[in-house]
Amino acid sequence: MTEKIGFLGLGHMGAPMAANLVKAGYEVLAYDPVPAAQEQAVKDGAIVVSTAVEAADAGVVITMLPNGKLVLDVYAELLPAAKPGTLFIDCSTIDVADAKSAAVLAIGAGHRALDAPVSGGVAGAAAGTLTFMVGGGAEDFADALPLLEVMGGKVVHCGGSGVGQAAKICNNMLLGISMIGLSEALVLGEKLGLTHQSFFDVVSTASGQSWALTTYCPVPGPVPTSPANNDYQPGFATALMNKDLGLAANALRENGIDGQLGLLAAEIYNRFNESSGARDFSAIVTEIRDRSDVPSTDA
Ligand code: NAD
Repeated sequence: MTEKIGFLGLGHMGAPMAANLVKAGYEVLAYDPVPAAQEQAVKDGAIVVSTAVEAADAGVVITMLPNGKLVLDVYAELLPAAKPGTLFIDCSTIDVADAKSAAVLAIGAGHRALDAPVSGGVAGAAAGTLTFMVGGGAEDFADALPLLEVMGGKVVHCGGSGVGQAAKICNNMLLGISMIGLSEALVLGEKLGLTHQSFFDVVSTASGQSWALTTYCPVPGPVPTSPANNDYQPGFATALMNKDLGLAANALRENGIDGQLGLLAAEIYNRFNESSGARDFSAIVTEIRDRSDVPSTDA
């Protein structure tokens, strides 16, 4: 296993992931077109290269990019330049079909490929506690495991190419649905005179309990680290949830699944994305409150 890693996409997630690889002793060839991202990577101890192709001069190339089109564009540029047998690991959240295409292109060019999207957000990326959902061959998974374990707390081999992305969109569809459901319950509670703390104290240990409530409570107070306590600064931006629900809605339609709540959640977040600015996805509670004419009880 090489100790040299190419890393493309040094944004909110990629920067701390690359920094953790440096801390673990890997030599990271980092590329991002944005100067501020390059400066941060230098501070974090990466070797910043000036073209994407230079980052392919490593036995492993990790991508953490905004969408599937960019991943496929980057693969088209890097695959002919990389050493034969390079392991391409795409950690971005992209369409299952794009993930499968990326793997077919990489393998067709004599390389190896895994899709390895993550959950856990920026905090998980910084702490090295992400969950990786991996699709691809067993041998490639075994080779990738040590470096995924540097960036993650849990690494699950979900199946063949594209199945890691399938796990990711299934998880985020469920998260979107549960955040909307939780927010509706909170606003109903507000209207009925239930304080946020009482709601939390009951529901966090009752059958309505969820990650959205206990880790990411969408109202300030009960979970002091949640974005609601910081004016809904992301965290996990509404635009990203909107993107993931769009991917999930595509997959529901393409596969003929009767996913009524998934499609509705995609619609609700699509509308909220237009008005939310750059707020965290948990700010959906504020829209539900506004649309219900319920005054805020936030301190
Ligand atoms: P981001 O927009 O902060 O970062 C993306 C980075 O990619 C930017 O710095 C951009 O300059 C860079 N980039 C664009 N084109 C490039 C290219 N051709 N070569 C190299 N770099 C390029 O996004 P993010 O929040 O870090 O998310 C990255 C991916 O992770 C997305 O697919 C997102 O859906 C997924 N994700 C994000 C979170 C989160 O909480 N932010 C959580 C889980 C998964």
